[in-house]
Amino acid sequence: MIRLPAFTYVAPRTLGDAVTAIADAGTGGMLVAGGTDLFPNMKRRQFEPTTLVGLRRVRELHGVRGSARAGISVGACETLTAVATHPEIARAYTALATAAGLVSSPQLRNMGTLGGNVCVDTRCNYYNQTHEWRKAIGFCMKKDGDICLVAPGSDRCWAVSSSDTAPALWALGARVRLVGPDGERTIPLGALYRDDGIEYLGKRRDEIVSELLLPPADGWRSAYLKLRRRGSFDFPVLGVAAALRMEGEIVREARIVLGAVASQPREAAPAARALVGERLTAETVARAADLAAGPSKPLDNTDFTHPYRKKVTRVYVARALAAAAAA
Ligand SMILES: Cc1cc2nc3c(=O)[nH]c(=O)nc-3n(C[C@H](O)[C@H](O)[C@H](O)COP(=O)(O)OP(=O)(O)OC[C@H]3O[C@@H](n4cnc5c(N)ncnc54)[C@H](O)[C@@H]3O)c2cc1C
Ligand code: SF4
Repeated sequence: MIRLPAFTYVAPRTLGDAVTAIADAGTGGMLVAGGTDLFPNMKRRQFEPTTLVGLRRVRELHGVRGSARAGISVGACETLTAVATHPEIARAYTALATAAGLVSSPQLRNMGTLGGNVCVDTRCNYYNQTHEWRKAIGFCMKKDGDICLVAPGSDRCWAVSSSDTAPALWALGARVRLVGPDGERTIPLGALYRDDGIEYLGKRRDEIVSELLLPPADGWRSAYLKLRRRGSFDFPVLGVAAALRMEGEIVREARIVLGAVASQPREAAPAARALVGERLTAETVARAADLAAGPSKPLDNTDFTHPYRKKVTRVYVARALAAAAAA
């Protein structure tokens, strides 16, 4: 049995106290919500925080408010099960409900939160291993080592963004509210990410994701497709979120966002632009799928071969567009 290292646990009841606690904890502090990703990672010594600030009891981080007509706000500590089964989210923001419902297994969706999912650590075959395994190969720069074992000549880490809900939220035009010691700010979901396997979040360490804000549904339809080896609980090795706003048969606006192809979700903007003003035909969909495969640059550091994952990107984009149009 692998044991957790010792740490101090703080359980604030208000968002203000949580902000103070994480700021006071300094560089040894980390936030924890459901713990479904962080605790296994701590057991493997991928993270060694001295203080954990637990968010689950913070009242302000719970609740789903609003409507599809006005826009919906989802508290960061809402569980993935709650998001997946929320009737208004399932109806009007289908990609998000689908993505939340495809994360891991029912047990983990009952504990895991939306805030934890958008902040989930990046993954790599050389990193998501026990401490002994990583020690045997000399560690890598993401933790305890100094080179990248996937691309030894590289000065950066290429670990893969593996959140299911992030591409879906991005395609839906979501924004994220951050609360920290200097106050609060609201940023587009895409701005939460950086293309770096280690510093993958574009927020300060002591900023808390408090809520995810979905814009009015306003005629948008969406879908999310996920590639993984074991349908029961694997992380995505490719995720495709597509959102379309149609007028009759004509696409007026489109967004396509790929997950698990880089260290951050990747928007396929040229592919989406190519659909605007067009009908969804076999030709327009094939052209968009080809364009979307461009930004998909998977490396050989997760499941399946990377040429296969790149090839499947085209197929999944085409299927996601068809599913979004039919949603
Ligand atoms: C076997 C297994 C399979 C999994 N499969 C998938 C999968 O298919 N898809 C997938 O996306 N994930 C998967 N996960 C990862 C994880 O279960 C989910 O991502 C889950 O949503 C994480 O949420 P959590 O609340 O448990 O996060 P935690 O583990 O509590 O935290 C995760 C990270 O987010 C940070 N964090 C949490 N809440 C906040 C907040 N409000 N503000 C700022 N930072 C915060 C933490 O500091 C930590 O860095 C899997 C995990 C396991 C163990
Ligand atoms: S991409 Fe390289 S540095 Fe990053 S986790 Fe993998 S082996 Fe380590």
